Amino acid sequence: MRILVVEDEHKIANSIKRGLEQEAYAVDVAYDGESGFDFAITEDYDAIILDLMLPKMDGVEVCKKLRQSEIHTPILMLTAKGLLHDKVNGLNAGADDYLVKPFAFAELVARVRALTRRPKESLSPILTVEDLSLNTLTFEVRRAGKYIDLSKKEYALLEYLLRNKNRVLTKDHIINHVWDYDADILPNTVEVYIGYLRNKIDKPFADSPVLIHTVRGFGYKIGRNNQ
Ligand code: CA
Repeated sequence: MRILVVEDEHKIANSIKRGLEQEAYAVDVAYDGESGFDFAITEDYDAIILDLMLPKMDGVEVCKKLRQSEIHTPILMLTAKGLLHDKVNGLNAGADDYLVKPFAFAELVARVRALTRRPKESLSPILTVEDLSLNTLTFEVRRAGKYIDLSKKEYALLEYLLRNKNRVLTKDHIINHVWDYDADILPNTVEVYIGYLRNKIDKPFADSPVLIHTVRGFGYKIGRNNQ
C-alpha cells in the first residue's frame, strides 16, 4: 500500500513517513499544498494524509481540487486546532476522515488502515487464499499452519497481491502500490521479489496448490489456479 503525506512541518512529516514504513507502507512526502496536489494527481496512492495548514495551497483547497479532478483516493485530514469548523470544512471538501494534532501514532495507523481497507474486507484483518493467511494487525504470515518469515517488502507485496486476490496485476501497478517514488526500481525488481515470495510461500509447500501465477505478457496474480 502506498501513502502520500502532505505536511509542511518536516519533523512531523518525516516521523509519519518512518512510522508508516515500519508498518510496511511505501510513503512519499510533499511539503506544500501545490506539490502535494501534483503528486496526488500523477501517482497512484492508496491513501493521502493531508495537513490542513499548508503553504502555497491549504489542505481544504487541495482536497477540493483533487475531488474536482476525479481523484477519489481516501484522504485523512490533519488539523492542529480541532475546531469544529475546520473538521466540517475538511469533510465538506471531500476528506474521508480527520485527526486532531497532536495525535498518537497508533491512532494514525488505525485510521490509515481503515481508509485503505476495502469494504468487503472490513470485518476481518486477516487476508487469506487457500491455506495461506496474512494478519494485517500482527504481520504474521502462515501457510498450512507454518509461520513464514518475510522481509518488509515481501510482506508489502504479498499483502497487495492478497488484497487483489484472483486479479491480474501488471508490474507497473505493483510498483505503483508497493514502492515509493524514491525507490530504486530496476526493470526486474518485481520479478525478483515475486521470486523471493515464491521461494517462501510456494516452493516449500509441495503438497499445497501453487498460489502465485505469472500471466504471460500481463503480470502476476495470487489465487487457487491460473485461470
Ligand atoms: Ca502545517
